[in-house]
Amino acid sequence: MGYVREVCDYLARTSPAQAEFYQAAQEVLMSLRPLMEKYPKYQEHKIIERIVEPERQILFRVNWTDDKGEIHINKGYRIEFNSALGPYKGGLRFHPSVNAGVIKFLGFEQIFKNSLTGLQIGGGKGGSDFDPKGKSDNEIMRFCQAFMSELYRHIGATTDVPAGDIGVGGREIGYLFGMYKKLANSYEGVLTGKSLLWGGSLARTEATGYGAVYFAKYMLEDRGETLKGKRCVVSGSGNVSIYTIEKLYQLGALPITCSDSNGMIYDEDGIDLALLKELKETKRVRLNEYTKSRPNAKYTPVSGYKEGTNGVWSIPCFAAFPSATQNELNAQDAKTLLANGCICVSEGANMPSTPEAVDIFVENKIAYGPGKAANAGGVATSQLEMQQNASMTNWTFEEVDAKLAQIMKNIYTNASATAAEFGDPTNLVMGANIAGFRKVADAMIEQGLV
Ligand code: NDP
Repeated sequence: MGYVREVCDYLARTSPAQAEFYQAAQEVLMSLRPLMEKYPKYQEHKIIERIVEPERQILFRVNWTDDKGEIHINKGYRIEFNSALGPYKGGLRFHPSVNAGVIKFLGFEQIFKNSLTGLQIGGGKGGSDFDPKGKSDNEIMRFCQAFMSELYRHIGATTDVPAGDIGVGGREIGYLFGMYKKLANSYEGVLTGKSLLWGGSLARTEATGYGAVYFAKYMLEDRGETLKGKRCVVSGSGNVSIYTIEKLYQLGALPITCSDSNGMIYDEDGIDLALLKELKETKRVRLNEYTKSRPNAKYTPVSGYKEGTNGVWSIPCFAAFPSATQNELNAQDAKTLLANGCICVSEGANMPSTPEAVDIFVENKIAYGPGKAANAGGVATSQLEMQQNASMTNWTFEEVDAKLAQIMKNIYTNASATAAEFGDPTNLVMGANIAGFRKVADAMIEQGLV
């Protein structure tokens, strides 16, 4: 269909140098073709042309001083993409690779992910090219305060509710919330991922990783398979990776790898979760420290990976959980995984597989859960946090975990039923994109041209 090419050309012309955004948009638009052919109303209402344009993009300067008094300037972003289904919702990413195209791709994905959760949340995303690595606690606090000194005027409990993402965890959410509260003179649920002491939800920290494992479980159940006793590989060693590993253990699987941007750990006996948490959540050190306590584990620096590949995907496994960052798994990695017997890939990260890798998974009909479906547990539980804040109640860990499992089951059922409706039952990329898009598009039509 020519419209996909036309829209992609339009994006390249009017929003130059946003490669990740074009990649995300093209994937969604390509898989919407069967829906567009069946229902001309979406073209009549120019939904595609409208949905690829953010409702609002906020770009701002962030000035801060380091511990030596030196001045630094970073870029701040908040993209409020689509509010058809509810207040803008999506995380904040602090990483030097952040630019307008990265935030736009994440915001675009977030629209459909949030729709898939079945909850009333629109799509947004934000962040900064600030690098938290090697910064002191005070520097992190000053940066968060400087960032919020602009962001506060754009967000609100019923307007836009940011959360964490890469480089933004509980500590950063605390500093951001403190500054918001001071500037707005209002104590409201304007951020999620908050501490349990002041409005957070039990199981929010765990939710994205747990959700990605639940998603794998439901995909596998449909194929008469289970994770029990199976070797699993996980990339990354941040929030999503740690709680993916935790849930894998709870379901009787054996997670054997994790990584960071410098290298990877292969621990044949199973990743030592307590050690990993201590290194990454408490001490905040690099992953190569792991082998000091676990001499039998193997650390391979990135320079030791086979050229053009990610070493994590070279380890034979039954299921793989990409949980670090975008485009961390390419076609060669996908082929290696399949050749080594992997039959399940559940994406904790956003867009971790390149388009060529996705094609290989879909063509080979493995149990492949694309990020916008498989990692939706994080934002879904953020919405559960908003519900608890609004009703001034607190649910137990077990209650939230049970709701999360049910939401992940609903997302899987919705994506696979939609894939079947459009003729390719195992293609959850198409199923998730169409199911997520359809609800937003129908809401946009009903709400008129705004
Ligand atoms: P964290 O900052 O907690 O951890 C990120 C991990 O990925 C770290 O181990 C980091 O290593 C690694 N990583 C980041 N960038 C790169 C890179 N360019 N190359 C190699 N490794 C890298 O982030 P999260 O765990 O929160 O997020 C991970 C992924 O999950 C992201 O794609 C995020 O968008 C997605 N996601 C997160 C959600 C959440 O609730 N947190 C919700 C839904 C999706 P290093 O320390 O060396 O940088």
